[in-house]
Amino acid sequence: MKAVLCTNRRSLYENLFSFLKNEVDSFEVLPIRDELLEKIYLINPDIIIFDLYEKGNKKWKFITKLTSAPSLREIPLIVILPRKNKSFIKKICEYEIFDYLIEKILKCDLITKIHRAQKISEINKELKQLLTKDPLTGAYNRSFLMERIREEITWSFTYREPLSIALIDIDYFKKINDSYGHLTGDRILKEFVSLVTESLPNSFILGRYGGEEFFILMPNTGEKDALMICDELRIKVSKNQFHTHSGGKITLTISIGITTFNGENLVTMDELIQKADMALYRAKESGRNCVIFYPF
Ligand code: GH3
Ligand code: MG
Ligand code: MG
Repeated sequence: MKAVLCTNRRSLYENLFSFLKNEVDSFEVLPIRDELLEKIYLINPDIIIFDLYEKGNKKWKFITKLTSAPSLREIPLIVILPRKNKSFIKKICEYEIFDYLIEKILKCDLITKIHRAQKISEINKELKQLLTKDPLTGAYNRSFLMERIREEITWSFTYREPLSIALIDIDYFKKINDSYGHLTGDRILKEFVSLVTESLPNSFILGRYGGEEFFILMPNTGEKDALMICDELRIKVSKNQFHTHSGGKITLTISIGITTFNGENLVTMDELIQKADMALYRAKESGRNCVIFYPF
């Protein structure tokens, strides 16, 4: 289990580290600063412990984001209260916080809460897997994907953050099925999803739109980064050796259409998908194995 402690207090870090060093696989401390969320995205922890000792209102902005950001809110959050204070406890009840601890923290209390959080998050993960994943490839399924695009648009609009989406289509996939059979086609779809998943940042979402078409949602990513990441992906896929059902090796290429919502003038999910689809159409028309961007 990966645990993250968000605090600016060295004493708290040392204390909790001594409690947890034999209980968790990794324990990282992150200072409560502007880049906190980006760091959490990178680590992708199983539990977040957040110190509310900090003065000022900044901490509540982080708590709001940690409990509402579509890709962070599933991670159990335990907050540390510097003292028993009724209004503090009332305030944290307004958020989807897993649990709280009041200083001075007891080792057994902390460990019990962490283990409970871990159990619940494992059950949630299994349920989520069943409900949200495409059974063949393990990518997110279409209904989850559609829901998530809507949520990410709302998030981008609220925080004025860019949101890029990429529509990927495997080139000449029908030929692969026709030449090597459907079992090879299925196998390649699985290998393709593994390759894309391991190549993308944790905060990106890969979903199967249908057949051999996939969407990548890129939260907080503008046009330039989206283009760069997708072109690197395109090259990586074109260099990869995929396996046929009978043990042979083949290569393939992909075409990608991208669009970016700048977070300013609200758009609908259909409009966003339509733009990415138009860009993909152009990529196919331009000879395939390329990335095309369509602005809003
Ligand atoms: P293009 O470069 O224009 O995209 O050519 P294409 O052959 O990839 O395009 P087309 O959309 O005509 O073919 C997609 C094929 O993908 C047709 C369908 O049989 C195949 N396919 C869709 N879903 C699956 C699947 O789950 N497994 C397998 N093996 N094949 C699939
Ligand atoms: Mg297609
Ligand atoms: Mg295709």
